Amino acid sequence: MRVGFGVDVHRFGSGDHLMLGGIRIPAPHGVVAHSDGDVVLHALCDALLGAAALGDIGEHFPDSDPAWHQSPSRLFVEHVLQRLEEHSWRVVHVDVSILLESPKLASYKQAMRENIASLCRIPPDAVSIKATTSEGIGFVGRSEGIVAYCVCTIERQ
Ligand code: MG
Repeated sequence: MRVGFGVDVHRFGSGDHLMLGGIRIPAPHGVVAHSDGDVVLHALCDALLGAAALGDIGEHFPDSDPAWHQSPSRLFVEHVLQRLEEHSWRVVHVDVSILLESPKLASYKQAMRENIASLCRIPPDAVSIKATTSEGIGFVGRSEGIVAYCVCTIERQ
């Protein structure tokens, strides 16, 4: 059994929605990103890669590679899971914390859980999605951006 940790940050930019955990969420802004800017799936990728000690998301999907331009981040997760499978790892559980001021995510958490569970081929009760504000402090508090943290466990197949 291994534990992995990942974090991702994106700056808010123009747009009318956020992609979080593969779910499209209406918002007063989008994010500045090479891909769809899904901080939850990016943090998940880094947690999985970290647990397996297989590098980080930037090594696997460089910003400079046009192949990943505007990519749905689901493709990153699928690629990472393939790398893990090649090394005989499977996912046991995923725990995510999202920091942002708005919009409220309560009504989207279950959809995120189910989507991540389906991607990782684990039951939804093995996926935890939590959200909190930054109490108006710092770049999250000023609504300049969004952060996601992810911890996961993996085990040998
Ligand atoms: Mg990112």
